[in-house]
Formats: sequence, structure tokens, C-alpha cells
Amino acid sequence: MDKIDKLAKFNPEQAMFEGSRKVFGEFGGVNSCIHPSSTFTTMDPEIMSQMFSGDLSDDGCYLYGRHFHPNALNLGMQMAAMENTEIAYPVASGMAAITTLIRQVIKGGGDIVASSNVYGGTYAYLRNLAPLEGGRVTFVNSNDTQDILDTVSFMTNLVIFEMHSNPALNVANLKELKQELPDHVKIMVDNTFTPLMYTPANLGADYVVHSGTKFINGMSDGTSGFICCSHDMLQDLMDLNSGQLMLSGPVLDARSCWQVQQYMQTLPIRMREHSLRAHEISDALASTNKFKIIYPGLETHPGHEDAKLQAHADFRYGGILAIDLETYDNARRYVKLMQDSKWGLNAVSLGYYHTLMSISGSSTSSEIEPDVQEASQLSPGLVRVSVGFLGDIDQQVDAFYENLLKI
Ligand SMILES: *Cc1c(COP(=O)(O)O)cnc(C)c1O
Repeated sequence: MDKIDKLAKFNPEQAMFEGSRKVFGEFGGVNSCIHPSSTFTTMDPEIMSQMFSGDLSDDGCYLYGRHFHPNALNLGMQMAAMENTEIAYPVASGMAAITTLIRQVIKGGGDIVASSNVYGGTYAYLRNLAPLEGGRVTFVNSNDTQDILDTVSFMTNLVIFEMHSNPALNVANLKELKQELPDHVKIMVDNTFTPLMYTPANLGADYVVHSGTKFINGMSDGTSGFICCSHDMLQDLMDLNSGQLMLSGPVLDARSCWQVQQYMQTLPIRMREHSLRAHEISDALASTNKFKIIYPGLETHPGHEDAKLQAHADFRYGGILAIDLETYDNARRYVKLMQDSKWGLNAVSLGYYHTLMSISGSSTSSEIEPDVQEASQLSPGLVRVSVGFLGDIDQQVDAFYENLLKI
């Protein structure tokens, strides 16, 4: 099979099943053990000195918990298999993944082109902190290929965007962008909204990051994040003298790695259910013809074809939709109606088994200035919905539909 064919046939669900190591627990437990050690012995001091000089990085040789540990390796291998990258490294939050990777790439002075339609924390970091660290950041008001290409220059080192922009759900055409972008520009994609649906590394991303706090965790009981990259990049990140992972220390601890890995086993079945319900709810809401319903699975969505071309069909169009209720007051009423009827929680974050709803402009995207929000078509009445999968699906669809008719 040639490379293109292989990529087209790549199935992330099967890959994460095959690619994770089945490590049995002590006494033959079907679950692996948690290895909560901050330090590790070596049988011969010579091995330790080789590790410090960077000669040994084989599995089985551990030095210190901040550097790497067995549960981080297991979880990282499973994530790398899913994302089809050489390796992945679990960290304490999505922001830790994003900032650590950016710092390593720009090394105190790089040119970044970033979509402003990204997670509010990513935007705030790029706008307020990256410049203090030598980053020259130019924002684009979309994740559209032509807009990004128009902004990239011969100086640009790194382009940053999300496959489905947050919260407006514009769909990036990564495949097309990769073909057009000059070779010196690296692409970093935040795939938090769309795990399993897209495999950005197959479409041309050099680095893939995740907030593991969202769908990957699925229980909203802890924060985590992932950097998915090449072996060479991870070696740089873990370098004892100059690696951002080693020296700023965001590694996810052993107990959390173990727990996230338990949850990851059900990610494929959860994602299918999130997506199925989000699609049905979007169809029902769109049929009212009352407000703009934003969901990449709708044929009226401008990114529908791009999504279809790039996604793994089995996972449809993701578990997130947005409803533009035009005014903040409408949005507040709808969220309250949904919460009072027990079908939605007014809370930030996403990927939980219960439906989470937030009014983006005044919550998770409030870091983004009003004029930038307007240019990015982020209306004050935009309600972002992370569709949960509790309860009877028909009653759930009805609740969304009936409550919208009341607005
Ligand atoms: C939540 C989120 C982040 C940040 O992740 P944390 O785990 O909260 O640090 C980054 N990107 C996207 C798209 C997110 O939704």
C-alpha cells in the first residue's frame, strides 16, 4: 500500500487498540499498575551517568518522575497510536501542552501565525505572554486556508489553529493548507474538540495537542493534556539542559495518567454517542428555522464539505454545536430553560456525559476583546453546547426543540 492509501485507511479506533501496550497488573490484574515513584534506581551507577548524558532513552530506563515515568509512557503510547504520531507525552492540562510546545518551537524568538478563533486561554497566552517570551504573534480572524496563507511570511515558524474553531465551529482545511504552505512553516493543531474524528497528523500537522480535560477524560474529574509529536521533538522537549518539559515540569502524575488511560478505553464509544446526538439535536433545532444553528454536520454549514472530506466517517461531526440566539438575553433564557428542565448544565468545559452549555462571549471566550469577537462572528447570544448522552435520546432532542420554540 502506498502512503496515501495507508493514511486513507487509517482507523484511529483500531490503531489505539493495537498500539497500546497491554500491561497486566501485579498478580495478573487485568488493569496495569500505578507506578507512583518520583525516583528510580539503576542497577549500575554507570547507567545513571549514561542517562544523564542523554545516551539512554529506552523504555525501562527511568530517571526521575518529572522527566518521564512508566504510566506516562503507557498513556502516551496509546495517545500516539490514536493520533498516528511517533510519540505523545501526557501533561497536567491542555494549556500546559500548548504553552510547553510553543516555547520549545520558538525558542525565545519566533514568528507565529495563529487563528484568533481559538480557545480563550490559548488566545490570552499568545497575546499577552508569548510576546514576553520572544514570540511575534500575528492573528488571523479565521482558520481559513487563504486567510492563513495571506498572513504567513518567509519569517513564519509556526501556524496554530483548531480543526473546529472554538466556539464558532469553523472547519479548517488542513489538507489543503499543508499543500500550499511553505516547508519552513510548522503546523500545530489543537484537536481537543474532535478526537478520533480527525487525525491531523495524517492531514499534515507537525504537532497535535489536546486538552485531555474534555472528551478524553469524559468525566470532568481532572485536568490533563497531551503533546503528540516526533521522537526528535520529544527528545528536545525532555532534554535535561534545554527541554521545556524537563525544565518547566508539567508532566502528568502517575495516578492521573492511570486514570485517564482507563477513561480513554471508552473514548470511541462515547464519541460516537456524543456525535450521534449532537447531529440529531442540530437537525431538530435547524428545522425550527428560528435561529442560526451551527454544526458542521448540517449541509448548510460552510465547512460541511471540508469536514466530510477530512473526517473519519464513523465519528461523524463531533459532539459540539452552537446556537446563535442573537442577544445575550435570549441566550440566558434558553440556558436557564434547559437547566430547569434538567437537560443541560450551565457550565464551561466540554466532553462531559451530561450536556454542558455556556454563553461563549461572556465566559470561555471573554479573554477575546469585543472587536475581535465581532470580527470572528462571535455573537453575544452564541450558546455553545457540548451534547451529553444521558437519558432517552428522543426526549433529549424534544427538550432542545421545545425550549427553543419558547425563545
Ligand atoms: C479547554 C481547552 C484548552 C485548555 O485545556 P485545559 O485542560 O483547560 O488547560 C485548550 N484548547 C481547547 C480547544 C480547549 O477546549
